[in-house]
Amino acid sequence: MDRAMAPEEVQNFINGSFKASGSDKLDVISPLDGQVISAVPLSGYADLDEAVQAAKKTFPTWSAQTLKERVQFIFRYRNLLLRDREELSALIQLENGKTLDEARAEVDKSIELCEFACSMPQIASHEVQEVSKGVECRIERKPLGVVASITPFNFPLMVPNWTIPNALVLGNCMILKPSEIVPLSALRLAALLQEAGLPAGVFSVVNGGREMVEAICDHPDIQAVSFVGSTKVAKIVYRRATSNLKRCLALGGAKNHLIVMPDANLEMTASNVVASMSGCAGQRCMAAAVMIGVDRVQPIIDRMCEEARKIIPGKHLGAVISKEAKARIEKYIDEAEKAGAKVLVDGRHATVPDKEGGFYVGPTIVDYVTPDMPIAREEVFGPVIAIIRAKDLDEAIAIENASPYGNAAAVFTENGGFAKEVMERASAGMIGVNIGVPVPREPFPFGGWNDSKFGVCDITGKSSVEFWTQNKKTSVKWNPEARTNWMS
Ligand code: NAD
Repeated sequence: MDRAMAPEEVQNFINGSFKASGSDKLDVISPLDGQVISAVPLSGYADLDEAVQAAKKTFPTWSAQTLKERVQFIFRYRNLLLRDREELSALIQLENGKTLDEARAEVDKSIELCEFACSMPQIASHEVQEVSKGVECRIERKPLGVVASITPFNFPLMVPNWTIPNALVLGNCMILKPSEIVPLSALRLAALLQEAGLPAGVFSVVNGGREMVEAICDHPDIQAVSFVGSTKVAKIVYRRATSNLKRCLALGGAKNHLIVMPDANLEMTASNVVASMSGCAGQRCMAAAVMIGVDRVQPIIDRMCEEARKIIPGKHLGAVISKEAKARIEKYIDEAEKAGAKVLVDGRHATVPDKEGGFYVGPTIVDYVTPDMPIAREEVFGPVIAIIRAKDLDEAIAIENASPYGNAAAVFTENGGFAKEVMERASAGMIGVNIGVPVPREPFPFGGWNDSKFGVCDITGKSSVEFWTQNKKTSVKWNPEARTNWMS
């Protein structure tokens, strides 16, 4: 772990320059060992307004460039992400606590997101049609103006890149407000965009917490806000931004259910379910949180326990984000046990040699959970899976659909009929069949249903093109006929 990578103090990036903010500071703590690694400013309206005014000023020239010209900046940025892959991965690990391989996957996914944005000239071309003789209608996609992106702690590089490349390529100017818990990767990505030659003001980073989010929702010159984080805050942001008449897309939390049928492939299912619940220390909005075991699935559960016991915290499993998160996760396990659930693999009180101050929870499998227990209903956001037993697929789907969330749902089976039932009836935006983390890869869009997403459109892929643009419809008469009717 190279603590020297972290600046003593995080700066904002406004109008092409890194600037200290006069605001109060918050410690940035590495979950790997609990040590303070930097300080982040809790900036407010004045810093935001400076970034917005710079964006407004540059928007006319930025949006006047062609799509193909704007793509060149993201193409260069993509190559810089690739060049700095190892350094970025180490930085993500330092501030977020995930393993180096998981951090590398985050950089790789950011590169893929840039590649999608670079294909925009191929997929976001305008439409034109001669709708009656000599009369043409055309639709052009126009950018919105100054837009904002507010991001969570769990993917310090990837989630910002869900929004930045697409929004910029489509001609918007963007203000990023990263999670104050993990502000370092965002600062590095700003430096890479600068190195890629992005004009000053097109992209800014303002650091802060709640006050900054509220300022973004209220700022009259910000046209659209995208948010990724917990459902509680997604609701606050969606309500506030839309009540200020902004376009808003707010992705919230999750409680993903995996249905395991008795015919599921034993090895593949066990390793997939364990990887889904423990990857990124369970802090993925796509992580398996509840497994619904239908009928006789004991051999699969036994194999899952074997797999989970092989996972060593600090080696194969990263830290959770904070001391509070560790305490919260362990409390859910304690309460479930007290209420009658059986802890088959227990990750409570995990420690890592030489990193005693780190925030580790080992993989935990809790069986005989009932749907009313908090561990079954609420987002635990740790490497924990709650197993609920069900007699048949109908009961399993009913349990899944009773959850207020709807990010992902999956089924493990070799029976096409069972798979189709879940694909059709599960109330979730992203479905997996024999896939524990069913993230749709580009060009397919990412986004859940129910309390996992507020607003229309998804946040990535082709669907995001709709979110970051508005259509201009133009009707042109080219023929010289004097006669007019409603069609000409
Ligand atoms: P969070 O909601 O606490 O924070 C997200 C952002 O909101 C941060 O930038 C933070 O500064 C800001 N914020 C926090 N409290 C606020 C308040 N009261 N008012 C205004 N702004 C506030 O989320 P987190 O803990 O950083 O991230 C974890 C959560 O994000 C989990 O619930 C996870 O499921 C969710 N998540 C969802 C997706 C998805 O695609 N649906 C993806 C990643 C993470």
